[in-house]
Parts: sequence; structure tokens; C-alpha cells
Amino acid sequence: MRQGTIASTDLVHQALVRITSDELTANAFARDDERRELVAARARRDALASDERRRRMSSSECSTRSALDGVPFAVKENIWVRDVECAAGSAMLRGYRPSSDAACVRALRECAGGVLVGMTNMDEFGMGSHGVTSKRGVVRNPLDVERVAGGSSAGSAACVANGSAYYALGSDTGGSVRLPAAYCGVVGLKPTYGRVSRHGLIAYCSSMDTVGVLARTVGDAGIVLAAMQGECALDATTVERCADLDAVAKEMLAETVNDESLRGVRVGIPEEYAVPELTQEVYDAWNETARAMEDLGAEIVPVKMPHTEVALACYYILAPAEASSNLARYDGVRYGDLTKKVTREEFLGEEFQIAIAKARSAGFGDEVRRRLLVGTFALSSERTAKYFTRAQIVRSLVMQDFTDVFDNGGVDLLLTPASVSTAPKIKDVAAMRPELAYATDVMTVPASLAGLPAMSMPAGRSRSSGMPIGVQLIAPRFRESSLIRVGSKIERAMNTSKRGYATVIASSSSIDSSAELVLKRRDELTALLSEQGIAIDRVIKANKELSKLEPIVEQYRIVEALRKEKASLEQLTAGRTASTDADDEQDAELAELAREELRTIDQTLPKEEMILQMMFLPKDEADDRGAILEVRAGTGGDEAALFAAELFRMYMLHSRKSGWSFQVLNISETDGKGVREASAEVLGDGVFGRLKFESGVHRVQRVPETETLGRVHTSTASVAVLPHAEEVELDLKEEDVRIDTMRASGAGGQHVNTTESAVRLTHIPTGIVVVIQDERSQHKNKAKAFSLLRARLYELEREKLAKERAELRSSLIGSGDRSERIRTYNFAAGRVKDHRAPELTIGDTKALMDGFLLDEITDTLALKRAEELLKSVSSTMSGGGSNNSSS
Ligand code: GLN
Repeated sequence: MRQGTIASTDLVHQALVRITSDELTANAFARDDERRELVAARARRDALASDERRRRMSSSECSTRSALDGVPFAVKENIWVRDVECAAGSAMLRGYRPSSDAACVRALRECAGGVLVGMTNMDEFGMGSHGVTSKRGVVRNPLDVERVAGGSSAGSAACVANGSAYYALGSDTGGSVRLPAAYCGVVGLKPTYGRVSRHGLIAYCSSMDTVGVLARTVGDAGIVLAAMQGECALDATTVERCADLDAVAKEMLAETVNDESLRGVRVGIPEEYAVPELTQEVYDAWNETARAMEDLGAEIVPVKMPHTEVALACYYILAPAEASSNLARYDGVRYGDLTKKVTREEFLGEEFQIAIAKARSAGFGDEVRRRLLVGTFALSSERTAKYFTRAQIVRSLVMQDFTDVFDNGGVDLLLTPASVSTAPKIKDVAAMRPELAYATDVMTVPASLAGLPAMSMPAGRSRSSGMPIGVQLIAPRFRESSLIRVGSKIERAMNTSKRGYATVIASSSSIDSSAELVLKRRDELTALLSEQGIAIDRVIKANKELSKLEPIVEQYRIVEALRKEKASLEQLTAGRTASTDADDEQDAELAELAREELRTIDQTLPKEEMILQMMFLPKDEADDRGAILEVRAGTGGDEAALFAAELFRMYMLHSRKSGWSFQVLNISETDGKGVREASAEVLGDGVFGRLKFESGVHRVQRVPETETLGRVHTSTASVAVLPHAEEVELDLKEEDVRIDTMRASGAGGQHVNTTESAVRLTHIPTGIVVVIQDERSQHKNKAKAFSLLRARLYELEREKLAKERAELRSSLIGSGDRSERIRTYNFAAGRVKDHRAPELTIGDTKALMDGFLLDEITDTLALKRAEELLKSVSSTMSGGGSNNSSS
């Protein structure tokens, strides 16, 4: 962006495109269906503003806000973003939309100019190590969708690994940033407790919770951390900015490090981290990293940290204990799934404890409930001394271990593995006992107990599975700067910068796994449909989904068939060189035939694969909508008006042939047979997605009837196609409305103070309140109140829609779309050329003008656009790095 070769709007567009296909691949995002548009619209607007800042930078005193200005990022959904659902992966917080940004989000969006593109999926309330306990479903590892992405910041790691975001925020209480980073092959940085404000982070275990960063490179992680650090009035545990961290961010940005050596750095290797569960390949990677550091001049020293062994047990007492206290606020009264909320009557009734217990059972998942049981048990008065107090003592011993090696042992950094193994398979995790799942955190928990900064970073890949392996660096308090300086040197020395991971979506293996997922889903749906007595609305829904999957399945079959064919042909031709033997003559002939066929397949297979890939590239959301078509005569006087009329007619005929409805909205005719301006509303399936390619300037070259000298004139008409804005649909849900009844008050009410006839409705999502008390019966007041509420909501929706339309229109007109010359018509020569697809020549102009051939042009253009999109997605997302596909 600094060089002006790419704009923030491009990056954001690509990110949003990727996010729409996310469900089929990683399931990394927490989609807030009602606010999906809001997040996307905000992101586009922020990107535009960022590009504008950059544009003006050269001319005026205005400047970009930071290096992160315009860069797309994602946020774990336990960190507040204003107006966007922040459910922390839990049913308990469904529909909870904070009214402000968390401090860290504010720092990145407002101060640094970052563009938020989505919220990420996570283990419920941050409790988990595998990304499998979310109410929103399992997060899959983008490098192998059968494996977990790690947890609890599963989505944040996955979306950085697959290139949907350049970096993402996570939270790390006991390893939730570092572990998923290791499993997904990205960098995970957990700062010192107190470095980044926790304001707006949904509490899990307050004495260990931190906001951390997941990024593609160590340098990126450092730059983001520097942007978020500092004292915050809303979090009393925060400390002043660290100047050295800011300095490191500058170094990383300038990439000016010329001293690659680690001379003078003492690196401690704690032997207690070589736990029995540690796999050989992780152990090897740990050793290799140590050797690489030594090669750079570091001094490697073995150190002793005797309390490492008990740290895990200590964490799993303290974290649930604090959680049980933090999560006590979710009582089903103020938060919670609205359908299962504690009602007013229940709340005031005798059995309100039971009502609250019910709401909590319904709202919390199994893992959270397990933790709450353990936590309250450990905190119960008879057992505090035995568990909680003891765990606190152990915590201080673990801290002492670190003090001993850092302060007394003169060690600058510790190097450990980041996890005991590479990412396990989802099905293996499902069968895991909870204690075993907890054991996954053995490498990360000690630094959390001590509040120290720690970072996991890629250190190679497994030779057997190809999955990434991570190592961890731990530094003394507030020494993030040395983590980053040292980490980036290791990264360069070992060449583990995982910029290349971003291309993973476009690589064919990931297309295969996506297709496999589609096949699986298709089978599920077919099985569902064959069940007896299934409800009709489910049948409709399943059928709808099926019809969307069918084309993908079909295309996958084609690709598979071609691949098989190719493999067998290759076998046929392998090893058969020209032979002189007569017996082999026939064989040789066969081989030649096979080679011939192979050549054809080599040409068609990539094309078919590309079409399959395109199917995973989601369409523009507006593609399915209808369109508003405007045709306007341009330069060329009467001739232009005539041409505009012909074009308008062409679209009318084409719409009819496509089965769309074509309603003329207005036509302003000229004296001749032409039109100055005409517009129509075109409705039908996918109209906008097809017609949008018509936007631009159309030119005609012909000899006007009035021209006596017979000279060829060029006249133009411009076409604009806008997506049709949906009519206001009012969906008033019962559970969104709180109904209170009370006694009517004020003058004139005959029933004042006798019955509860007055009705107050509160629409929870918007906060609109209406009160009606003028009828005697509560029933009638209720009906009136509802109709008033509806009217208010309708008004609100209409205003919103009007604003959206205005925005859309100005963005369309502002873009180059309308002024680009797209097509030239030459009727005399019987030739139409589309400048965006010069290889395509339409000879039958009459057929075209009668509405027949437009589809062919559209198909070609759609394919081209998708090709470009694929190219730009994979090249810009890869950041120019190499794709280290395996080690
Ligand atoms: N896996 C650990 C746990 O479940 C760590 C979670 C976290 O850091 N939020 O508690």
C-alpha cells in the first residue's frame, strides 16, 4: 500500500470474499447474520477512508494513521466491537451486542486506522484447547480440514493461516493464542499481563487473561502489539507504554535489521519441558531451533525449572475457580438466550434459584459447566484451603522458577516447544477424556501463571503429516521487544516466515478438501430427506441447500474423472520409449495414442479445476438480487438517442428470454425514434449478477441516415446497472419484545389504580419503548402497542434502507464503472466487440440486439473476472513469499 500498488479497498474486498466461503472450509468466523452487512459495510467504508488518507498524504499535511492503516484484521468474538454480536462462542450470550469497542479494538481501528473484517469463532468463553467447544461449531485447520485448529482462539489462527485476515486478535489465558498459532503455522504473541488493556475482553480468568496477536510474521505481531500497548484508565492493571517496543515496531517496519547475530543472548532450555507426551518430531524441531540460535551466536544453556510439572494442575484449579466467579453474572436474567430467559414472574417467584439454574444449564455448554463445577468445588468453604490456597502457593513457586533463571541465572530468554504434538484430528479430540485435553496446555500454562510475555512461532513441519510445528520463546516481564527481535532473526535464519500459507485456499489440495466437505454435507442432507415424517419446512430448507451443492458435486466429479483418466494414461505411457521390436509395435502405437490423449487432458484439467475453484469463490451478495437498469444517450445527438433506444430494447428482449420481469420505470423520448434516458426494474433470479457486466459506455459506429457523405460516426450510450434494494421486510420477533403491564396512571383513566391495563413494550434490539394505557382492557392496549411498535420499526428500517441506497449509488457513480468504454457495435460490418474480452467476436448482431447472445458475452466476462479474482487473491495474499508447501 505504501508503494501505491494496492489499495485498502482491494484488500478488504478480498478478505470479505474469503470470509463468505469460510463456512465450507475453516468455519473460522462467528457470523452475526443480522449484522453481517453492517460489518461488511463498515469495513468498506473504513477502507475507502484509509485509501483517501493515503491519497492525500502526498499533497497535504494529512497522513496515514500508522503502518496498519487500511490493513484488514479480525477479532476473536470475546472482544467487544460496537454493535456486533460478541457471544464468546456461547449460547448464553447470543444476541449480546456491546455498545462500544474494547480498548484494544479502539486502538487498532480509530488510532491505527485498521479495518475490521470479521469476528472469529472460539471455544466457549475461552475454555478449550482445540476449537471444538463453540456453539458455532468446530473450527477446522485450514492446512488440513480433518484436524483441529487449536484453541481457544481457533478462528483467529485459522483466518490468519488461510489469508482471510492479515492479523487477528485473540485472548490468551493459558495458551489460547500460542497453541492455535502453533497448530496453524502462524505466529502467536501473548504479551505480559498488564501490557494491553483488558477493557472489553469478556473475562474468563481475570488474573491471567491477556489480549494477544496472531500474525503471519514475528514482525507483524510486534507492530500490532505496539499499536495496542499502553496505560488505560479502564484497566487498572495496565502499565505505561514501553518505548523499546515502539522502537522494535519501527525496526520491523523498516526491515533495516542488519545485525542478524544473536551474540550475547543467553537462551535457557528448561529440561522439564521434555515431558513424556512430547512427540519426537516436536522434540527435534525444538533442538533444531536451539541449534539455529547457537549458529547465530547465542549461548545455549540448560536450566532447571522444577515446578513446571505441577503448573498444569495448578492452572486447572485457579482458572476454573476464577471462571466460576466471573461467569456468575450470567444468570439468565440480563443475558442469555432470550427464549430460555428467566421471566419476570419466575424472577419474582419463590423458585427463582431454580429458574436461574435452568437458564444456566441451557445457556452453557458441557465444558463450561464442567469448569464451573470444578471451580465452585475448589472455592467451597470446606475445600478452599485444600485446593485454591494451595494452588496459589504453587503459582508463586512457578513464578519463582522464572525469577531464578532470569534474574539469578542471567538467562535472557527461554526456548521451549509450543505444544507437545502437531494438530490432532478432530475425531481423535472428540474421543479424548477432558484431563487429556487439558494436558495439551502443559507448554503454555507456566508463562501464563507467571504473567510473562511468550510467543509461539513456526519451526518447521512434520515429516509425516506436513502439519506445522511451533516453538515458544518466553521472556522476562515486559520484555516483548526481545521476543520480537530474537524471534524475527530465528524466522529469517530458519526461513519459517509463513507468508506463503496464505495461498493455501487456492491450492488444489484445499479445493479437494472443500469439495469433500460438500460431498459429506450432501450425503447428510440426502439422508435427512429420506427420513420418515420430517417437517415440511425442513424438507424445503434441505432441498434448497442441496440444489446449491449439486453443481459443485457435479463439477468435482468431472475433475475427479479427468484426474483418474490422466493417472491411468500416465501409467500407460510410462517407461515406453521407442522400441524396435516388432511385438512392441502395437504397444508403441497405443502409447502414442495415450500420449496424445494425455496432452488434451493436460489442457482441459486445469480449466475444470479452475471452474471448481471458482465455485468456492463466493458471489457478490448483490448478485442474487434484481437490478435497476438505466440507459442514457451520450455523445452523438440523435444517433446516440437511437442507439440508446436499441440498447434498451435489447435488454428488454433479453430479460424476457431469461424469464425475468422487466418493468419500465421511465422513458424520456426524443423527437425522433430515440430515447434520451430510460430506466427499468428487472426482477428475477440472479439478475444483478448477470446484468452488472453491462455497466459502462457502449459505442456504435455507423453511417447515420441523415449523413449525405456517408461518413462513419461514433456515438455512445451509457448503461448503469444497480442492485435492487430489497423492500423493507419487517420481522418482529416475539422474543425480542419485553412486555410489562402496570396500572394505568394519569387523569381520566376510569380504571386507574385498579387493574394492570397499561402496557409497555420494549423492543430489546433497538431499545424502542412504547406505552399504551388509553384502553380499559390490557388486551386492547397490547394490540395497539404492537401496531405502534411495528410502525416505529418500519420507519427505522426505511430510513436505514434509504441511507444504504444513497451510499450505494454514490459509490457506483464514483467508481470508474460508468465511464469505461466496454463495447463497440458495428452493424454494417456485422461485428460487435467487447473490449474486456477481445477474443470474443459476435458476428450475428441482429441476434444480439434481439436479446439472444448476451449470455455468451456475460459467461465469458464472468469467467474472466473470477480468474482475475483468483489470481489476485492468491498473489496478494501470499505477500510475495514462497509457498513452503512441505519441508
Ligand atoms: N486451554 C486453556 C483452557 O482451556 C487455555 C484457554 C485460554 O487461554 N483461554 O483454559
